[in-house]
Amino acid sequence: LLEVVDVRKSYGDRVVLDDVTLSVQPHDVVCLIGSSGSGKSTLLRCLNLLEDIDDGVIRFEGHEISDPRVDPREVRQRMGMVFQAYNLFPHLSVLDNCTLAPRRVHGLSRRAAEDRARELLTTFGLSEHVDKHPDRLSGGQQQRAALVRALCTQPQLLLLDEITAALDPELTGEVLGIVRDLADRGTTMVLATHEMSFAREVATTVCFLSEGRILEQGPPAEIFTAPREERTRQFLRRVL
Ligand code: ATP
Ligand code: MG
Repeated sequence: LLEVVDVRKSYGDRVVLDDVTLSVQPHDVVCLIGSSGSGKSTLLRCLNLLEDIDDGVIRFEGHEISDPRVDPREVRQRMGMVFQAYNLFPHLSVLDNCTLAPRRVHGLSRRAAEDRARELLTTFGLSEHVDKHPDRLSGGQQQRAALVRALCTQPQLLLLDEITAALDPELTGEVLGIVRDLADRGTTMVLATHEMSFAREVATTVCFLSEGRILEQGPPAEIFTAPREERTRQFLRRVL
């Protein structure tokens, strides 16, 4: 579904992604872990074409999306992204947040978009909140609504960047539960997280980033119990 080959990215003379190579198959859940500043967010932003890369290739559904001629909006129709915070449009109700892209970008009728959004909002326990504005919702509810909004466009790939970082432990558990459900239903995801127990539980592949490089990647059982690299061991000793 997604191939990242030798991707390199610098800000000025600072290299933030170095020779990043990664392959994502349908139904994979790839967890990016690593210290603050290791490049997790930058990698996700490059995948979604929010950042240009300096070198390398990104292929999505067989198309070379790192080609500068590609329209990022077209890619983002098939690749959803949710960030740590500020995901929802504050001036729109939850329902309107969820139907905006399907109607405007995918050309769905209001009726069809609302039917799909209401169904997903109900699945994610938000049926009472459809007509509210985001500021009337708790942080956990807002993130759940942001996930629903991303899902309403039926993306082939979902990118999640520390979506629980701004939440207290209880709400974190609530949102991670939703992500676990999505994983169980076969949603393909690449996510950056500091929640190691969660990564261990849901990931099909864990990538450890250090100074912009994927130092090692593999199934969670391997990375968490028998890391090959000393730097992975050091990192895990600090966070586990
Ligand atoms: P965290 O766990 O704190 O979210 P991260 O792994 O997501 O960290 P990135 O945000 O990808 O790290 O940052 C990687 C490096 O790139 C950091 O050194 C950061 O300072 C730098 N960086 C990120 N965005 C920019 C930017 N717009 N301009 C210059 N440098 C940037
Ligand atoms: Mg980050």
